[in-house]
Amino acid sequence: MALANENYLKTPEIYCFDEIEKRVNAFKLVHPNAKLIRLGIGDVTRPLPNEVIHAMHDAIDEMSMSESFRGYSPPQGYDFLIEKIVKDYRSFGISLDKESIFINDGAKSDIGNIGHVLGRDNIIAISDPVYPVYENATIMSGRAGVLTDEMKWSNVVYMRCNEETNFVPELPTERVDVIYLCNPNNPTGTVMKKAELKHWIDYAIENQSIIVYDGAYSAYINEPDVPRSIYEIKGAKKVAVEIRSYSKSAGFTGLRCGYSVFPQELLVYTKMGENVMLNKLWTRRITNYTNGVSYVVQRGAEALYSRKGKIETQELVNYYLTNATLIRNELISIGFEVYGGISSPYVWFKTPNNQPSWKFFHQLLYENQIVATPGIVFGRTGDCYMRFSGFSSREETLIALERIRKSKY
Ligand SMILES: *Cc1c(COP(=O)(O)O)cnc(C)c1O
Repeated sequence: MALANENYLKTPEIYCFDEIEKRVNAFKLVHPNAKLIRLGIGDVTRPLPNEVIHAMHDAIDEMSMSESFRGYSPPQGYDFLIEKIVKDYRSFGISLDKESIFINDGAKSDIGNIGHVLGRDNIIAISDPVYPVYENATIMSGRAGVLTDEMKWSNVVYMRCNEETNFVPELPTERVDVIYLCNPNNPTGTVMKKAELKHWIDYAIENQSIIVYDGAYSAYINEPDVPRSIYEIKGAKKVAVEIRSYSKSAGFTGLRCGYSVFPQELLVYTKMGENVMLNKLWTRRITNYTNGVSYVVQRGAEALYSRKGKIETQELVNYYLTNATLIRNELISIGFEVYGGISSPYVWFKTPNNQPSWKFFHQLLYENQIVATPGIVFGRTGDCYMRFSGFSSREETLIALERIRKSKY
C-alpha cells in the first residue's frame, strides 16, 4: 500500500488567493459589464525589457545550429550569468565567490526546497502576517506540529508584526533555528534598516540559527539606510542565505529565473555538533534533483546586466513604484492608516472603521469595482488590513484612486 505524505493534507486545499478569485467571479456573474480594476495583484503586468527579448532571440538562434547548440546547463547555472551576479554584488561592496551562487527557476522553488537540506527538528520562525509559502513549506515538510485553536501551528514561532511594531517583524523572544525574513516585506511593504537587521544577524550568530532572506523586492529599495543585500551587514555570510529573483524587478514571473546565495562561511550542525557547510548540502541537492534553468532564459537574465538592460529594469521598477506612491499618497490624504509603498510595490492599510478584511474587500468590490487583497489571507494578524499593489497600469491605478476618493471612506 502506497502511503501518502499526510503533511500535504494539512495545508489549505485552496491556495488563499483562489478564495479571492471565487468571490470576484461571483461578482462578475451579477455584474458582467463592470470595469473591474485589480489592485490586489502580486504579479507584474508590463512586458519584458527589449534587451531580454533580443538576447533570448539570439540564444534560440544559437540552439538552432549544431556548432552553437547547448544541451544541459551546469546545474548551478552558467558562468556567464553567475559572473554578472558576482560583479553586481561587488558594485555594492560585497565580495562573493562564484561557488556560492546558484541560478534557480525563481525564488519560490528554493524557498520551499531549502527545507530538504535542513534537519526535520528545526524550529522555524515566520512573521504573522506572512508570505504564505514560508508557512506552507513548513507544514508540508512536517515541521509545523498541530493546528491550535488560534489557527497557529504548535511548533512554529510566529514573530510579532503588527501596528505596535510598525508592521516590521520583531525578533523572536525564544530560541529558533531557521528564520524566514522578507525585506522589503511582502505583504506589508515595510522595510528593515541596516541597524535593525544587524540585531537579527547578531541573534542568528549567538543562537547558531540561519536566516533565509527573501530579497525578491530588493530592486525596489529607495531609501539609503535600507540594505539592498543582507551581506551589507557584517557577519551575515555566516548565517544568511539570500534568495533573489528577476520576477518582480524585470518581469520574469512567467519566464522563471532567480538565484540563491549560499556563502561558504554558512554552517549548520549535525546532532553530534559537527559543522557542515550548507553550500555543500545544497550542491548535492541540486546536482541530484535539477538540471538547471533553460539556456535561453539564462541569456535573457544576463542581458539585464548590460547598460541598457539596467536602464530598462530601473524603468520598470520606477513605473510600479510610482503607482505605489500614488496609492500611498492618496490613502494618506483620505486619512487611512498606511504602511509600506516607499521601497516596495505594496501598500498595506487599515480598513476604515476597523472592518474585517473580507467585509471591506466586498465593499471595494461592489461599490468601487476594485479588487484588493484582504490582509487576513496572510494570517490572523492581517485581519482589518488590506494590501494594494502598484502592479496595475498607471491608467487603471489612477481610475481606482478616483473611485476611492469619491466614495468618501
Ligand atoms: C513574488 C515573490 C517571490 C518571487 O517568486 P518567483 O518564484 O521568483 O517568481 C518570492 N518571494 C516573495 C515574497 C514574493 O512576493
